[in-house]
Amino acid sequence: MIATSGLVDFHCHLDLYPDHQAIVRESEEAGVFTLAVTTTPRAWSRNQELAQATRHVRAALGLHPQLVAERASELPLWEAHLTETRYVGEVGLDAGPRFYKSFDLQKQVFEHVLRCCAKAGNKVITVHSIRAAKAVLDHIEAYLPPSQGRVVLHWFTGSKAEAKRAVEMGCYFSINASMLDNERHATMIAAIPLDRLLTETDGPFTKTAERPSKPADVAVVVEALSRLHAMSAPTFATMVRSNLRSLLEQSGEGA
Ligand code: MN
Repeated sequence: MIATSGLVDFHCHLDLYPDHQAIVRESEEAGVFTLAVTTTPRAWSRNQELAQATRHVRAALGLHPQLVAERASELPLWEAHLTETRYVGEVGLDAGPRFYKSFDLQKQVFEHVLRCCAKAGNKVITVHSIRAAKAVLDHIEAYLPPSQGRVVLHWFTGSKAEAKRAVEMGCYFSINASMLDNERHATMIAAIPLDRLLTETDGPFTKTAERPSKPADVAVVVEALSRLHAMSAPTFATMVRSNLRSLLEQSGEGA
């Protein structure tokens, strides 16, 4: 297994592990750049407080599409916190059967989120798009000009053509191990330009060795992606880190 120091977990729910503080400390000690996404704006402040005391963990301000049905009223709170961070997420759209009934409301919320990010400028946004790749890309195209922010598509499972469209729009992709288990998705992922690839765990929602994945488990993704591209794992890890640096430089901060 490769060293964890310098790896990138660009989408992880640190506040959903049994001990939030302990997993933040563990990510920090492993030296993994970890983007701690949030699902509601109420969770933001505690995540930001813990992240600010670290070198490697950052917090993102989110309003998860699966929670929009109950939490759309927290949108003003989301907006109020936006000046406190460059990282936004988890946001996006979910047209899966359990959440389809809120799809219109999700679209209103996502439009507002993107408009606010465009107005503020310089944001890096981690976006959910389950069964909604086209709608997500349509929204980004309509409401977030490429000069005004950067999108990282998280657990993207659209078609190859949709991935190509996303690349042309300037999007990045954060890839997790579960995505690579699916042959169709793996083929789509193999066609993404190397300089747009990031890695993620989406822990604790994915598993590594029968337990919830932790940020350091992103090493498994690096190894799988490096095999897919016939590169060595350390070389691939260095490339992902350099992709992260480019992404952040386009919008301001070094990694
Ligand atoms: Mn997630």
